[in-house]
Amino acid sequence: MSEGAIRRSLAAREDRFRTLFEQSMDAIYIVAPDGTTIEVNQAWLDLFGYSRAEVATFRAIDLYANPSDRDSFLGRIAETGFVRDEVRFRRKDGSEFDCERTVVALKDAAGAVIAYQGVNRDVTERRRAEEALRGSERRYRSLFENSMDAIYIGSPDGKVIDVNQAWLDLFGYERDDLPGLDASVFYADPADRTDFVRRMTATGHVQDEVRYRRKDGTTFDCQRIQTAIRDGAGNVVAYQGINRDITARKQAEAALRESEERYRTLFELSRDATYLVKPDGTFINVNQAWLDLLGCTPEDVNRHDAAHWYAEPDGRKRYLERMATAGPVLDDEVKLRRQDGTVFDCQRRIVARWDKDGNTIAYQGVMRDVTEMREAERALRASEERFRSLFEQSWDANYVGTPEGAIIDVNQSWLDLFGYSRGDLSNLTAFDLYADPADRGPFLRRMAAEGRVQDEVRYKKKDGTVFDCERTVVARKDEQGRTIAYQGIFRNVSQRKRDRAELERLARFDALTGAFNRRSILEKLDEWVRHVRRYKGHLSVVMLDIDHFKLVNDRHGHQVGDHVLADTATLLQRSVRQTDFVGRYGGEEFLIILPRTDAAGATVMAQRTRAIVQGTTMHDAEGGMLGITASLGVAEWGDEDDEDALIRRADAALYRAKAAGRNRVEVAASPGQDTPGT
Ligand code: GH3
Ligand code: MG
Ligand code: MG
Repeated sequence: MSEGAIRRSLAAREDRFRTLFEQSMDAIYIVAPDGTTIEVNQAWLDLFGYSRAEVATFRAIDLYANPSDRDSFLGRIAETGFVRDEVRFRRKDGSEFDCERTVVALKDAAGAVIAYQGVNRDVTERRRAEEALRGSERRYRSLFENSMDAIYIGSPDGKVIDVNQAWLDLFGYERDDLPGLDASVFYADPADRTDFVRRMTATGHVQDEVRYRRKDGTTFDCQRIQTAIRDGAGNVVAYQGINRDITARKQAEAALRESEERYRTLFELSRDATYLVKPDGTFINVNQAWLDLLGCTPEDVNRHDAAHWYAEPDGRKRYLERMATAGPVLDDEVKLRRQDGTVFDCQRRIVARWDKDGNTIAYQGVMRDVTEMREAERALRASEERFRSLFEQSWDANYVGTPEGAIIDVNQSWLDLFGYSRGDLSNLTAFDLYADPADRGPFLRRMAAEGRVQDEVRYKKKDGTVFDCERTVVARKDEQGRTIAYQGIFRNVSQRKRDRAELERLARFDALTGAFNRRSILEKLDEWVRHVRRYKGHLSVVMLDIDHFKLVNDRHGHQVGDHVLADTATLLQRSVRQTDFVGRYGGEEFLIILPRTDAAGATVMAQRTRAIVQGTTMHDAEGGMLGITASLGVAEWGDEDDEDALIRRADAALYRAKAAGRNRVEVAASPGQDTPGT
């Protein structure tokens, strides 16, 4: 090649290089070792924001965001003659950017560096994209990990690459179980995996339902979406699958089918009359109960429209107006007429059925004859009114309150009993009614346990007076058995209690003398006889009879006689011990019981009594003085004794005292030694 040819060739290559240099999208520059610019292309000027005219105004070091980076660059390029790195540069306007650069040292024949030639590429955008990608990977990762769906990534040859926790939970595996497992073990039928791989290979996508197998061998239905993941060259590197357990859904579907089935049966068998009718009144369907309720045949239903069955002329028209404003469900009550002309009260629930455009296509109704129920209600109301008047007019105090103690209702007798006015009730609780509020606790416990309490309680009136009250309280319950109220009837028994106590007293004591009467002194004797039979010890009785009492009556009259009897009884009470008992045994005859006293002790007591009677002056009606004497017979209980014998012996002793001249005491011999009547 001639020199000229060579030069031309060189020039041509130079030109091609220049064109390449100028047109390159990469920023290219040539810089002298001292940092002065020799050459830059347009892309470089665009990247750094300078004009060609400004190239002489800066040196290489001015381009570094961090000037020390230039020293490190010079060190490295001196060592190897080549640098590929990333560095942060600064544009003319001061903004900074990350730059990927490749720099070579251009050397002369002697090996001295004459220039550095570099290619710069702004990687800020790429960095941002990478950052974004990493963020998205993180997000994906957490999606993967936290997903409720079981996610599986596996290789086409059936090795597990990654699964999330939900997958482990669903399949019952531990993460450590997975290495070495073949994906076919996850299938209830391993042949399904072969089929799946075939479809994945053909389409790269499978969406279906499959039956899987857990680690413990149990199987379940699963909905899955599987996608093939490919590398840059389009080769399938993995299958990624999302699985969702649909056992519950399948069960729900089965339950729904069953419930629909049941509904159909219900419709047919329901004792409630059910029907389906078009808006124009044509019946679509009615069940047997409906036919029974209206007393008609299927032919009657076909012959008539819905309006026919209303008892009132505008019945259906008015119902349709109500339905129009009611929303999807309407509960109403209408009067309908049966085939035989009889009218009944009908309670209905009607549901409108719409098509997808919102047009009513049918009304479905369930209805029930409530004539009897309405009549029962009317009867109930009447009975409630009757109850109300009973409640109000009762002589007994009636009360309704809550278990917590609020007073709901009381009648006038209750107000009278407790002395409250109706206006007081709002500030009053059940606790306020008790003389001792602590009594309410045991009452509540018994109510809770038995639902009813009948007892006597001490209540307190508004003015503080305490009274005995007989009460009957029952718990009123609702249909669920919860107590809603306590209903009580109260009766003041204070007076009755006083009366009863008086009656008891009257029954025990002699009205004239205040001593025990004959019956109760004999009861006392009976008690003491039983006592000595059991515990031994002494027991004596004294029989006392006033001497010539007929004369007292005859001389002073019966009334004075009575006074003398009463005074004598008082004398006897005083002369005996507290533990002794004095009873009026007959007209003017007294029996005295002396527990724990032998015949000797009783005789002493009898003598003292005789002396007191004799020594006491009594008075006649005019205030005149009057004296009496008495005769007494003493007898002590013996081992083989009985009550009658004991009294008989005392009587015999008394008789002897009379016979011996009266105003005397005679003692009976022990049982068996006695000689009555002598
Ligand atoms: P004696 O010494 O034998 O006992 O003579 P007496 O008169 O007391 O005879 P007796 O005991 O047989 O008679 C009792 C009399 O007491 C007869 C009756 O009229 C009288 N008497 C009985 N009960 C009452 C009464 O409640 N009031 C009055 N005033 N007299 C009575
Ligand atoms: Mg007498
Ligand atoms: Mg007598």
